[in-house]
Amino acid sequence: MEPPNIERLDERTVQRIAAGEVVERPASVVKELIENSLDAGATRVAVSVEAGGTEGIRVRDDGVGIPEDQLEAAVAEHATSKIGDIEDLDRGVGTLGFRGEALYTVGAVSRLTLRSRPPGADAGAEITVEGGQVGEIRPAGCPEGTTVEVDDLFYNTPARKKFLKRTATEFDRVNTVVTGYALANPDVAVSLEHDGRETFATEGNGDLRSAVLAVYGREVAEAMVDVEWEPNASDADPPVRGVTGLVSHPETTRSTREYLATYVNGRYVTASALREAVLDAYGGQLAPDRYPFAVLFVEVPPGDVDVNVHPRKLEVRFDEEPAVREAVEDAVKGALLDHGLIRSSAPRG
Ligand code: ADP
Ligand code: MG
Repeated sequence: MEPPNIERLDERTVQRIAAGEVVERPASVVKELIENSLDAGATRVAVSVEAGGTEGIRVRDDGVGIPEDQLEAAVAEHATSKIGDIEDLDRGVGTLGFRGEALYTVGAVSRLTLRSRPPGADAGAEITVEGGQVGEIRPAGCPEGTTVEVDDLFYNTPARKKFLKRTATEFDRVNTVVTGYALANPDVAVSLEHDGRETFATEGNGDLRSAVLAVYGREVAEAMVDVEWEPNASDADPPVRGVTGLVSHPETTRSTREYLATYVNGRYVTASALREAVLDAYGGQLAPDRYPFAVLFVEVPPGDVDVNVHPRKLEVRFDEEPAVREAVEDAVKGALLDHGLIRSSAPRG
């Protein structure tokens, strides 16, 4: 065997490999684009996808927009308006994004158009990126706000494209992501459309129950009870500052855990510790392999939670995990007990 010849990869190859870490499938693109819209202070976010997002994704918002002379920076690598340096990171990030890599990486593996018109600007402008190749900035007629279109995801990375599932499966994942943000932001009107047909649209009136009604329907909305938990007033520095939201009657369930939506400091996460705490609260009241609906917001001191564990930023790590679990279980249990939905003798854990 010949000794290996170690060479540095060219920039294009590095870019495409890195893109795969952040952008796994249409749902991950949708997630990044919605987060950008929310970070931009949008009150309306309209998502529409074609063929589960594999052929086209469009996210339109009415947020602050991007001035024409910033369009190029927006699609550049590690370019962000949200943090300045590592100290900002240590203080805790208030925005959903901060890495400055989403538009850059999505542009590396698709045909991306970023079109924007800041409120009050006379006209809009757009920039396109095709497989990492950044095009000219052109004037564009568009409403105030920002629209991002992502066509032919993975057209230049066939190996990754092959890993995509059936259209219906990809759309399910897109739906889960958009639902997650719609419930977390009842004050934002969020809509989702698939192949020209509306899946749901929330009103954006600030009412969580109304958002639940829009995405899950009347039966579920009516089976939800309020969760309202606060730490003991005597605790000067509580590890959990609050648990609020809605959980369903133990008989209103589904066969997957997908409807246990949990948020930490406003960020959608899939922390198994949180899901288990919710299920524990129901004690023995759930039928085997049935899972309730939950939309739960957990507030912890920003320094006590690490959201920087993974680029897709779904899993989080808590400094005080046992305390968080206990608070969530107490909160849900309290709500169910108050409404007579479980018996106080229900076994713990
Ligand atoms: P990040 O969100 O981590 O900053 P992105 O690559 O997602 O990185 O976006 C780069 C920059 O482009 C953002 O920091 C923001 O200034 C701008 N931007 C992206 N999307 C929008 C949007 N929908 N509205 C306004 N500005 C946006
Ligand atoms: Mg972003």
